[in-house]
Amino acid sequence: MLEHILGIRMEEHLPAGALGPFPVALDIRAYLVAYGAGLVLVDTGMDPSGSSIDAALKGGGADWSDVRQIVLTHGHLDHIGGLHHARSSAPSAVVRASPLEMIDGAQPLTDGAIIGSLRAFATPGHTPGHMSLYDEDRSILLVGDYLGVIDGKLVRAPARFTSDRAQTERSLRLLLELRGARMLFAHGPEIDRPWDALDELLMRG
Ligand SMILES: [Zn+2]
Ligand SMILES: [Zn+2]
Repeated sequence: MLEHILGIRMEEHLPAGALGPFPVALDIRAYLVAYGAGLVLVDTGMDPSGSSIDAALKGGGADWSDVRQIVLTHGHLDHIGGLHHARSSAPSAVVRASPLEMIDGAQPLTDGAIIGSLRAFATPGHTPGHMSLYDEDRSILLVGDYLGVIDGKLVRAPARFTSDRAQTERSLRLLLELRGARMLFAHGPEIDRPWDALDELLMRG
């Protein structure tokens, strides 16, 4: 059985016109977070089949019955596409998201809520109810879609998918409280010295 936080990488190829004039390969990540005897699934990716999550569970010596909670950082389609599959595979798992994300059947997730080993950290701006999740014992921050990594560089989410730019900047500064934690992203791989990269990003404006 899993004992840590396992990243699930899902690559989605979007055709020209979906996100812009060119086809795009999106690197989407969901996470399985072990706590006590169970697992928390953070986000579900875009693929309705959920096959990457099935494979990750199997690879970790676990199965859907171990998934006790499903937490959604926000309601964008690239992170909730696998939700139906997750719900039907783990019918007793509690689904949680901010009420502001208006996800049918989700229990409310509020700032400061504790889910397994994770504490929810309201970081509105990307979407009104976006939540980041902090694992204090492991000192790991699941940033969600605030920040991502493209070609090794820390970047903000694209402005046109950001509901409130000023609020996003305030939320980014809130995260600085957690300086020193490892950062894991909903798009892109982990990088070294993410906080230095964030300082630079904020300085560049
Ligand atoms: Zn998003
Ligand atoms: Zn996203």
